[in-house]
Amino acid sequence: MTTGHPTSPRARRNRLLRVGLALGALVAVVVAAAVVVPLLLPPGPRPSFQLPVACGETWQLGTYPGHDDYDVDLFPTEGKAWGRPVLASDAGTVTEAGINGSLGGRTPDDPDGPRGRGGGYWVKIDHGGKWETQYLHLLEPPLVRVGQRVARGEQIGRVGSTGNSGAPHLHYEQRRGWQKVETHFDGAPSGITHDDTEYTVTRTSNNCGPGVP
Ligand SMILES: [Zn+2]
Repeated sequence: MTTGHPTSPRARRNRLLRVGLALGALVAVVVAAAVVVPLLLPPGPRPSFQLPVACGETWQLGTYPGHDDYDVDLFPTEGKAWGRPVLASDAGTVTEAGINGSLGGRTPDDPDGPRGRGGGYWVKIDHGGKWETQYLHLLEPPLVRVGQRVARGEQIGRVGSTGNSGAPHLHYEQRRGWQKVETHFDGAPSGITHDDTEYTVTRTSNNCGPGVP
């Protein structure tokens, strides 16, 4: 007698295999969508970034041939650069806080010590909406750690000359969708777009804390 239902152990095994494969394919599609869809979404609006230095201070922003498009080097117009506070341009989550390349040996006591490679002590902050900022050549290990939430104006480190740096300064970048873009501060563009000629401009920080929009 036959019932029309395959009930042999082999048929059961095949049915289980088909169900397993279908489930596996479904999981793969869901995981792929979860990874790919955020990449396809357009970036959000630009956060209201502020200069990454203390409220009220005036700094020179500049670039030079061979630097890299959009990269900004900051030097204070008054006083020494060494040890000056580096502040978060806006609220966000720290995604890098450590050593990029190698530190070298340039310190306030030995400013012409051995030059390092890359960014030295550095911090990267994710501001959401695919916007990021980067802060390089810090004097000491960053004052923040990966995963930490920071407020606008929160101190993340101190100005130094670690990594590939000629003199103490802050190298700074803004990224949208992981591509560098022209830096804006307090709603106004810096004018630093290309590195084909030397260019400097001075700006005064309005990074006066999270209470200021
Ligand atoms: Zn630089």
